[in-house]
Amino acid sequence: MEWDEKKLLLNIRAADTDDLLDRITAYRATLEIQAIEMIERELHQRGVNAAQITAYAGICRQECLFDADGTAKMCSLCRRPAVAQGWGWHRLMQKVPVFPRWLRYCKNHKPA
Ligand SMILES: [Zn+2]
Repeated sequence: MEWDEKKLLLNIRAADTDDLLDRITAYRATLEIQAIEMIERELHQRGVNAAQITAYAGICRQECLFDADGTAKMCSLCRRPAVAQGWGWHRLMQKVPVFPRWLRYCKNHKPA
């Protein structure tokens, strides 16, 4: 096992399950086949089966925003896939509004 592969494996094992599901569904187009296999193996070890991964991918296809290349757009505030976008405020230290900018939001950061 090469160093990069070991580093990737440690990263995968440290990631939470939702993050891994996002990676192999929403961001699948950005991954090497080897990384997809490693993530799927880790998910299976955590008790997530292929049908659950397929269901998660289906929900993402319905809810997430995608670039033309098929990669999900990422939330402007975290690494989760974006489900909404619009104008918002770029905030200094996430508090003080500085200037308006186009933002994308995941389910957790989507404004009410
Ligand atoms: Zn977010």
